[in-house]
Amino acid sequence: MQFIDLKTQYGRIDREVKARIEAVLEHGQFIMGPEIQELEERLADFVGVRHCVGLSSGTDALLAAMMALEIGRGDEVITTPFTFIATGEMIALLGARPVFVDIDPVTYNMDPDKLEDAITGRTRAIMPVALYGQCADMDAINAVAERHRLPVIEDAAQSFGASYRGRRSCGLSRIGCTSFFPAKPLGAYGDAGACFTDDDAIAQALREIRNHGQDRRYHHPRLGLNARLDTIQAAILLVKMGIFPEEVEARSRLGARYTELLNARGAVSTDVGGGSVLTPFVHPDNLSVHAQYTLQVPSRDEVAEKLGQQGIPTAVHYPIPLNDQPVFHVGLPGAEWPVSASVASRVISLPMHPYLTEEMQQRVVEAVVEATGL
Ligand SMILES: *Cc1c(COP(=O)(O)O)cnc(C)c1O
Repeated sequence: MQFIDLKTQYGRIDREVKARIEAVLEHGQFIMGPEIQELEERLADFVGVRHCVGLSSGTDALLAAMMALEIGRGDEVITTPFTFIATGEMIALLGARPVFVDIDPVTYNMDPDKLEDAITGRTRAIMPVALYGQCADMDAINAVAERHRLPVIEDAAQSFGASYRGRRSCGLSRIGCTSFFPAKPLGAYGDAGACFTDDDAIAQALREIRNHGQDRRYHHPRLGLNARLDTIQAAILLVKMGIFPEEVEARSRLGARYTELLNARGAVSTDVGGGSVLTPFVHPDNLSVHAQYTLQVPSRDEVAEKLGQQGIPTAVHYPIPLNDQPVFHVGLPGAEWPVSASVASRVISLPMHPYLTEEMQQRVVEAVVEATGL
């Protein structure tokens, strides 16, 4: 069994993928070819915003978004410590300070009730993460941000295709940033990412920043990056968009089925709590794309080993909260962020992709039941 099965998906689309790659090889516009704009229009339309700007990765999308807001030295950006390194890393790379707000124990996303206390005179942006494919409580976060006239950047690297109160992730705040890393819900065949916004000036800034700060050929009003989306990756993503809505539906359904099967065997959802094995809780406001299907278990290493012995791969997203990463030197491991610390020590992710069969899920569930003594 594979943790993420990209082969089955490729079997559905291989001819179209090869044809679209070949078209790029024939026209030869490898940098900023016509597929870029075609994809950007398609993705902006899917998300329901005016602008999509293709970028070279999700990490570069976060970096470019903060550069467009002119965030730099001495500034503070509020995010959560329970995320992939890139979220905090890009804040620090710009010379700003990541300020961590603890997560909600049920959704694992930024706790809006703890947000206001973290805002200071130096705060320049708020960056919630849609962890595991479920959006944060964006209305609550946006409301706090508006009171303080702060922009919100959604780190939607794991939630492309998800929705919150009927609106799509990436279109829920000033700027939405996503990743098309191969293993993400919408994955390219290499690194790729994008920013989304309704703000014309920010979109223009992002287009300049991804191309060395250039507004017209060899004229550079600002500092930028080489962070353009690759034309071949755009061509591949255009093919994958053809089956993506169906895959979003499958991800949501298969996530719910894992939870149903596990809870029938004695696991408990995080909103109820109290059980030895906790299954994810998808808030009724949300449709999750389950970028990861993640449990909390006691003795995680033992569970991972037992599943591994049965040929079931697992992963840990993420074992060390950012505040505890040596690079940030925050100095108070766990003390200020008890929920993140506790969850990071207990989470384990199961195989998850749109092509899981009922038999595969049954096998995984049996193995979890056995390994945890449910
Ligand atoms: C994957 C990921 C990123 C980075 O995306 P890349 O395309 O790998 O650069 C950023 N934030 C989160 C939460 C992620 O999961």
